[in-house]
Amino acid sequence: MIVVMKTGSTQEELEGVQKHITSKQGLRPQVFQGVERTVVGVLGTTYPELRDEFEALPGVREVVPISKPYKLASREFHPDDTLVQVGDVTIGGNELVVMAGPCAVESEQQVISTAHMARKAGARILRGGAFKPRSSPYSFQGLGLPGLQILAKARQETGLRVITEVLTAEDVSLVEEYTDILQVGARNIQNYRLLQAVGKAHKPVLLKRGFATPYEEWLLSAEYILSEGNQAVILCERGVRTFETYTRNTLDLAAVPAIKRLSHLPIVVDPSHATGKWHLVAPMALAAVAAGVHGLEIEVHPNPDQALSDGAQSLTFENFQQLMGGIRSVAEAVGLTVASPTT
Ligand code: PEP
Ligand code: MN
Repeated sequence: MIVVMKTGSTQEELEGVQKHITSKQGLRPQVFQGVERTVVGVLGTTYPELRDEFEALPGVREVVPISKPYKLASREFHPDDTLVQVGDVTIGGNELVVMAGPCAVESEQQVISTAHMARKAGARILRGGAFKPRSSPYSFQGLGLPGLQILAKARQETGLRVITEVLTAEDVSLVEEYTDILQVGARNIQNYRLLQAVGKAHKPVLLKRGFATPYEEWLLSAEYILSEGNQAVILCERGVRTFETYTRNTLDLAAVPAIKRLSHLPIVVDPSHATGKWHLVAPMALAAVAAGVHGLEIEVHPNPDQALSDGAQSLTFENFQQLMGGIRSVAEAVGLTVASPTT
């Protein structure tokens, strides 16, 4: 349930409500100060009698039960869209934010050339994995720390913000030092210790949907992050596993409007992992924009043929630049802006 404070209620009244919640075994408060209203989420297992009790407290306007198992992630808790701020980039608002870059950081030259090209084409965020969660232990596992340093250098040279994956709870503080957004990959959707660790971090988190994760479980995983205090969570649909083998995964585009209805968190689509084939990336990216995404995460490589991972789904520079033109047209049609290309 959530406790909605009266407009003009005092700090003392707010503290009184928090104290009252804490006095109940197994419950804890989380305050959310919105533009229009202040609400206190009651985290833990609540029971109906609490409603009257909380409603009688000074400064309380009403108590609203939340029907979903996830609370902080729900629209009911937070009716307005959440805006996630990444430096000067806002995700979740009127600008469609494009994140682009190689699957894995392979070399300085590879990343820096991609970053310059992506920035000029209108991307705002550079992606690249330094720690790679590969299906085979014999595949390239990523450069690790040197990879993070290359990303930081690319940020310095281009002004792009950086997103990179963190694989384990132990790595969070290291990765956080170098990145602007912490990515939690599809394979880690149920790694609750990792979710808690990024929940304690001070950087936004992009949480990818798992291969076989229903919306409710996905939002419960987001709840793990939110309930640790990190409110800057972005969800990413990257396809789910079905009986189809032609595509790597099946892009569930209905997730975009569905998640926007269920949650206030921004949602982006990764058409690269969702399809596994470069020639399907552009049509799916455009469809995602039409469906109302807040952003896209796209794999781009200077030489897809020689990529150490996911070459088959990586766009060439030329294909990426062309796609950005299409993204701009569709975004405009649905009332979104995209950063302009620069020279
Ligand atoms: C990635 O984006 O680098 C990645 C590994 O994606 P996913 O977790 O969606 O498989
Ligand atoms: Mn990849």
